Amino acid sequence: MDDLLAPLLGLAVAVTIVVAAVLLIRRPRSPRSPLPPGQRVVVVGGGFGGLQAVMKLRRTPVEVTLIDRRNFHLFQPLVYQVATGALSPGEIATPLRAIFKRARNVRVLLGEVGAVDLERQVVSVQPPIEDLPALEVPYDTLIVAGGSKYSYFGNPHWAEHAPEIKSLERALEVRYRILRAFEAAELETDPARRAEWLTFVVVGAGPTGAEMAGQIAELARDTLPSNFRAMDPGAGQILLVEAGDRVLAAFPPDLSASAVRQLDNLGVTSVVNEMVVDIEKAGVELQAPDGTTRHVGARTVVWAAGVAAASVAGRLAEAAGAETDRAGRVTVEPDLTLAGHPDVMALGDMVRVRSRDGGMQDLPGVAPVAMQQGRYAAAVVKRRLAGKPVKPFRYIDKGNLATIGRGRAVAEIKGLHFGGPLAWLLWLGIHIFYLIGFQNRLLVLLRWSFSFVTRGRGARLLTGDAATGSRVGVSTPQE
Ligand SMILES: Cc1cc2nc3c(=O)[nH]c(=O)nc-3n(C[C@H](O)[C@H](O)[C@H](O)COP(=O)(O)OP(=O)(O)OC[C@H]3O[C@@H](n4cnc5c(N)ncnc54)[C@H](O)[C@@H]3O)c2cc1C
Repeated sequence: MDDLLAPLLGLAVAVTIVVAAVLLIRRPRSPRSPLPPGQRVVVVGGGFGGLQAVMKLRRTPVEVTLIDRRNFHLFQPLVYQVATGALSPGEIATPLRAIFKRARNVRVLLGEVGAVDLERQVVSVQPPIEDLPALEVPYDTLIVAGGSKYSYFGNPHWAEHAPEIKSLERALEVRYRILRAFEAAELETDPARRAEWLTFVVVGAGPTGAEMAGQIAELARDTLPSNFRAMDPGAGQILLVEAGDRVLAAFPPDLSASAVRQLDNLGVTSVVNEMVVDIEKAGVELQAPDGTTRHVGARTVVWAAGVAAASVAGRLAEAAGAETDRAGRVTVEPDLTLAGHPDVMALGDMVRVRSRDGGMQDLPGVAPVAMQQGRYAAAVVKRRLAGKPVKPFRYIDKGNLATIGRGRAVAEIKGLHFGGPLAWLLWLGIHIFYLIGFQNRLLVLLRWSFSFVTRGRGARLLTGDAATGSRVGVSTPQE
């Protein structure tokens, strides 16, 4: 009998512990207590750089205020997957409040940061909600990570015909236009006009442009053919246009050549040494180096070319009398502070960093740079609190990856150059690893695995009233 009792008792204890744990976890939370007093750190921007800074300050005795004009962190490297129906918006964006719900020293404010008063140490914030007035948020340390925006090289009107894919709204606009093009081609009976609907032009052959063109090709050639009856979605053209002399110019020439081959296998035509000089509703005008131009009829154009710093960089530069470069990036010192203002740090896509010898560091506008700088800024705050000296920021380059399609990518890691499925698997693993939130990682992994096997794309909804053009998710380009 005793033999039976012992395991039963053990089981009862185990069940009690589990029930108690569940009850404890689900216990209603007490209302949030006020933030602990102390150093006030204000972080502008919940993108890659700002998010890392705040994460690293979660357990530091400082008051952190994170301000962003959006209420979510956007995983920009996968925005083009939303633009081509492979992923849904919620899978690549996470509410900032959810990320920091357990960090009691962090508060999140929704608002656009306007002026920065460096003397009074306050930033002014305009909430994007009607009837709410602007407010001033004081700081002891300010960390600004406002990122970048696409630049249309002085032709802002091109944005109407060639949306970019930096924000979720614009990505949904691109998805709408791509899906609309296939629907229109199915209905169009005139061969020339149908060809225009089935021609897609992606401007700019950096990683984003190459990824975007590859995804449109997969959609047209793998996913959609069985969905249409009157036309073949894969019969059109996908042009990747680049003014420079090769695609993926930030990669070594052998990987550019590999990318061109992989793109070609997918059905993407790489057009190099030709500059886009005009974009209108029914196509683009390309100019060769000898000055001759040609018209390409295309109803869908996606912009993946120039990038400029977010406007907050200019405001900061003006307030501090700091230099900006042609892309509007504000110059910061080797420790990421604004010259003459050690209480203000700026980082990520919106800055260029001075080197110790007085020159400029050549840092790429990629997520790892912003993330390392965000972590560095948090370390500076901690070291100053501890009265310790601060070393200059140093970027550790772990490599460069770009994907082109399923099983297609190029990688440059520690001097090793490779392409194809191995590079793609590496890209996949890294992107899933860095997605914020366990649920997002799981969903994206499941969706990619499923679409890899079925060659399908679930998020292909054409929402809103396509006939009148009033549809969900259309907005002007993001700053
Ligand atoms: C389509 C696309 C694909 C990319 N793919 C890759 C890739 O594969 N690998 C890679 O490493 N990099 C990639 N990048 C680049 C990478 O996303 C950026 O380098 C990185 O996001 C820079 O981080 P950041 O913190 O400087 O800015 P962001 O991540 O852009 O964050 C800036 C934040 O600041 C907020 N903000 C801006 N101004 C204000 C203001 N005035 N008030 C309040 N909030 C403001 C914005 O809402 C945003 O949340 C890609 C970029 C794009 C657009």
